[in-house]
Amino acid sequence: MAGSPPPPPGAVAAAHVSLDPYVERYAARTHGMRASEIRALFAVANRPEVVSLAGGMPFTAALPLDSVGVMVADLLRTAGASALQYTGGQGDPVLREQITQVMALEGITASPDDVVVTVGSQQALDLVSRVFLDPGDVVLAEAPSYVGALGTFSSAQAEVVHVAMDNDGLIPAALQEALDRLAARGRRAKLLYTVPNYHNPAGVSMSEPRRDEVLAIARSAGVLVLEDNPYGLLGFDEEPRRALRARTSDEVLYLGSFSKTISPGLRVGWVLAPHAVREKLVLASEAQVLCPPTFSGAIVSAYLRTQPWLEQVKVFRELYRERRDATLSALAQHFPAGATWTRPTGGFYVWVTLPEGLDSKAMLPRAVHARVAYVPGTGFYADGGGGRHLRLSYCFPEPDRIREGVRRLAAVLSEESELRSVFGPHATAPSGSKDRGRRAQTPAPDLA
Ligand code: PMP
Repeated sequence: MAGSPPPPPGAVAAAHVSLDPYVERYAARTHGMRASEIRALFAVANRPEVVSLAGGMPFTAALPLDSVGVMVADLLRTAGASALQYTGGQGDPVLREQITQVMALEGITASPDDVVVTVGSQQALDLVSRVFLDPGDVVLAEAPSYVGALGTFSSAQAEVVHVAMDNDGLIPAALQEALDRLAARGRRAKLLYTVPNYHNPAGVSMSEPRRDEVLAIARSAGVLVLEDNPYGLLGFDEEPRRALRARTSDEVLYLGSFSKTISPGLRVGWVLAPHAVREKLVLASEAQVLCPPTFSGAIVSAYLRTQPWLEQVKVFRELYRERRDATLSALAQHFPAGATWTRPTGGFYVWVTLPEGLDSKAMLPRAVHARVAYVPGTGFYADGGGGRHLRLSYCFPEPDRIREGVRRLAAVLSEESELRSVFGPHATAPSGSKDRGRRAQTPAPDLA
């Protein structure tokens, strides 16, 4: 580069030195795999003195663990040999039938034959990517988007094109524009990835009229919709919203999960696909895991059959509503002018926009030092955006801890703003363009 100073001695050689002796041998797709840069920081954030508003961990302590214990013992006593055996690659037929009944709560009519049981909906994301995405294919995804989905698309070497959203979810006009821009480049998107209910991380839901508009736009562009809906039954003051898949069966691949309504540790999710696609998904899944976890599936099946599971979902909803309220009132009380945030009507997350000039990633070490943690917005963008945003999860800490965490975070924000006003923008070391890569990060499981 003309005019740039010569590199210091050794710098050029150092650039080619890697500590990993296998680097030349990895498959190209591993270039898209990148551990979250903030993983190490979160090892600290998990210390008890830190209020973590980072992880999206369901509050499993609220489960009726004693009766679940009796249920699991009964299951082993009466059907242990089959519950501990391999099962078919598509998952147990009885469980698939029960899954169709769960989906009926959101207006979906489906045959158990079109359901594939997966290792959480995360495996379903991977299966759909394997079946539909070639390297370089375009996936449209909300801005921001669930970090685990971005990681999967990135591993499939797909290009993510973000589409703007607002308080009513994905913006149909922005979707149309994105499609037009792609068409002008001679490109077309294969999938539209959306989380229409209680979005992770944005905390908003797609409005009723937009659901039909988005489907109509996707249909006319020939784009399959990937509807990811782990939070749909966790609305606080409303009936479950009608799924996109309830409106059309041909153009939607629907992902569901028991992670938020029962337990993430069981790792039971599913994909509902058009009949023609289902077989490909089963073959892809068999190549990956042979069959979904039989024992976990049997536990879910017994839980749905013998326990008052919808009553328990209500317990979760009330618990999360109280925590959402604690978060919103603490934000209103402590956060400075210039910060804004979403007001979720269900789910786990509030998405915060910081006052102009603040950088959520640069601020994180200071926040952890002040004993509060969050996830910087950059993790939820495939294109380096999100620096002025952060995600707060209210699902796990008790309300008093949430209030304390938000108070601590507000103090960090004030210090950051003060530093900037005294010393200028460089005082808070913005995370800068250096790491504004196009590669998504792989989430740590407890941050997902
Ligand atoms: N999709 C979304 C939107 C999520 O928030 C999560 C978990 N945080 C997942 C998928 C994956 O969930 P699981 O694999 O536990 O079903």
